[in-house]
Amino acid sequence: MNSSPERSDTLSWAQLERILSQALSELSLSVVIFAGGEPMLLGDTLYRAISMCRDRGVGTRIVTNAYWAANRDHALLKLRELKDAGLTELNISMDDYHTDYIKLECVRNAYEQALTMDFSAVVLANCFGPESELTPERIRRDFGSDDMKMRFGEDGISGFEHQKQQGKTLVVLSNAPVQRLARGCTELSESELPVVPSAEELDKLADLIGGCPWALKSAAISAKGHFVACCGFEVEDNPILDYGSLDDHSLDALMTKADNDLVSNMIAILGPIKIMRLLEKICPTEIDFPRGYRSFCEVCHDLVVLEKNRVALYRHMDKFVRIVLEARSMVQREYLDQGKRDFPPLRIITAETPAQRAPVGSETEC
Ligand code: SF4
Repeated sequence: MNSSPERSDTLSWAQLERILSQALSELSLSVVIFAGGEPMLLGDTLYRAISMCRDRGVGTRIVTNAYWAANRDHALLKLRELKDAGLTELNISMDDYHTDYIKLECVRNAYEQALTMDFSAVVLANCFGPESELTPERIRRDFGSDDMKMRFGEDGISGFEHQKQQGKTLVVLSNAPVQRLARGCTELSESELPVVPSAEELDKLADLIGGCPWALKSAAISAKGHFVACCGFEVEDNPILDYGSLDDHSLDALMTKADNDLVSNMIAILGPIKIMRLLEKICPTEIDFPRGYRSFCEVCHDLVVLEKNRVALYRHMDKFVRIVLEARSMVQREYLDQGKRDFPPLRIITAETPAQRAPVGSETEC
């Protein structure tokens, strides 16, 4: 998110109230997440926003660094305020990139007190690489309980879905490998990052995950009040994944814009890795993917941030129209028309064998 103490963009209560009113009346939301930066810096504005969601029966989560939990009493006080406002889930970030600023003691105070408070979920969110001191193993050893569940498998890719149970706090350690995104593109050394998988392994990941499960399904409002596709990395002001300012347009108008956006649909339906592979076949000299990639978001970053790739995408996106329309019709028919709101990520297999279908309109076998 490019967050740092130097940044001060923030949503005002007037903005939050207007956006939340629209979202709560027009959408069927699972949970509203207040991330950041640091949402607790919003003070009463945060509590009012949480209460607004609670009053409409929608759960809420904050993602915080726990700076406010300098001692156990203070942790309890703040958590009670959050609970009284209606907060249902607490995520605490803890990794090497926070420890220069936040004492681990704060995290411990917030975490241990939260476990006494009947939240539906308490998550320790760790981001780690080969040189990290604060690793999932260390957190499990120092903070863990028998109840603590892992978010990702050993490969750092396969995710576990843990169901929340009424009356029981779900305790999760989100053990996410660090990615080279945004500021990390220039500020992380290669040795701090996990090994780059082979091209075959990356393609397997694309087949396993399918379309990006987060694009638009986990849409976000940026700190400047823009409606953006996701919080995979900071996409504010990106020509593709930022749909515009909610100060100038209604949420409904920007959602319609996003829903009609062909490239966003391609990312949600095919996923960025498959799009990269197809562009490599369609127009190899017009694109530039200059590094090894570990994840969907790393590929997506270079796909939508590097101008050369965006230009190639725009120039050749007509070749993807039919596959996008057909996938959307399938979702409408098989899920939405049946009253099913949730559908799994779309897996569209692309290969060069004639047995497998091509996106019609394309000169390329896909
Ligand atoms: S792959 Fe792209 S659209 Fe999906 S979460 Fe990552 S950055 Fe967002």
